[in-house]
Amino acid sequence: MKKAKCIIARLKEAGYEAYMVGGAVRDHLRGATPHDIDVATSASPEQVKALFERTIDTGIEHGTVMVVIEGQGTEVTTFRTESGYSDNRRPDKVEFVNSLIEDLKRRDFTINAMAMTEEMAIIDPFGGRGDLDSGIIRAVGVPEERFSEDALRMLRAIRFSGQLNFRIDPSTKQAISEHAENLQFVAMERIKAELDKIMVSVAPDISMKYLTETRLSCYLPSGGLFEIDWSEYPAGNDPLSGWFYLLYQNGETFNSIRDYRFSNQDRKDLQHALEASRLPHWDDWVFYSFTERQLALVQAVSHKTVEVKRRQQALPVRSKSELAANGRDLMEWTGKKAGPWLKEWTRQMEKAVVERRLANDKERIKDWFIDEYQRHT
Ligand code: ATP
Ligand code: MG
Repeated sequence: MKKAKCIIARLKEAGYEAYMVGGAVRDHLRGATPHDIDVATSASPEQVKALFERTIDTGIEHGTVMVVIEGQGTEVTTFRTESGYSDNRRPDKVEFVNSLIEDLKRRDFTINAMAMTEEMAIIDPFGGRGDLDSGIIRAVGVPEERFSEDALRMLRAIRFSGQLNFRIDPSTKQAISEHAENLQFVAMERIKAELDKIMVSVAPDISMKYLTETRLSCYLPSGGLFEIDWSEYPAGNDPLSGWFYLLYQNGETFNSIRDYRFSNQDRKDLQHALEASRLPHWDDWVFYSFTERQLALVQAVSHKTVEVKRRQQALPVRSKSELAANGRDLMEWTGKKAGPWLKEWTRQMEKAVVERRLANDKERIKDWFIDEYQRHT
């Protein structure tokens, strides 16, 4: 907050208005530490840039300049309104205005539409503080209009309900139900980002209940999968565990949620976690073959209580590169060229070492290999 206050002081010295706004004010009032602080000002982006030594044009066409102080960036945005929204997601035009109130009016929910002065005085034209105290998510202005301007706001309302453990005001909820189908205009990565935030929120079951009740879930890929009981889902800090829970509870494969465009790593981890979840017993070979994250995903939902990390650390080897012999050694010992046999025998060797049937020592491995190889060929 210190950096933001410096920026505000500087802007005010130069004769402009400047305030902390949005999520930071909300979080400050609820006694949480805001993770980033946004500043709104009457100064134009050019005027902001002229006042500070280091700035980055992060979104200058929307009026946002990042001011960097001691390596830390704070977004400073010129008071603006938005209008147009012919595509239900992006304003056709952004207009700079010279009043804070106009700027607060374009924001999504009352709890996100407050400003705070440098002296910590709250400016709250829409009753955000009352809604924050009563635990209510309420659209600023006419909810129907706000959701037809930008369909992502519907999912944001539901995400905030889980993050803050808040109720959605009935008329705001009603408007979400009515505009649910506009969710199809929202880019998949933005939908996925909101769902990921729900998966790690304090009350994901509340968000999921709203998702179903408003029928927003009907406009999500495989939306029916969300209609499971989330009360037993132990949210942690890996969003993937929510996606795993979803697949696990529905008995589904990764394919059913591929439209959300997971990274290759996340896809692989989900697929492997599902595979591990089907194994009745986890032995050393399992701890060796799956990563800590993959097993943690399973563990979170299946009440398995083993200490994955400790079991993995206790393994004789953690990866193929730690083996005292490699494929080249096997080729040398047999005098054979590489081929499918090599992969198979490397795996046999790996398994024997992991399962402690064989010491990880080159001479021992050689004796074992020559013996076994002759017996099997
Ligand atoms: P978080 O803790 O998730 O960052 P936040 O409230 O800071 O929550 P941001 O997405 O960082 O959310 O947006 C900052 C502020 O910008 C919001 O508090 C809100 O006032 C406004 N805002 C963000 N997205 C929208 C939107 N789609 N429609 C209207 N206002 C928005
Ligand atoms: Mg934010």
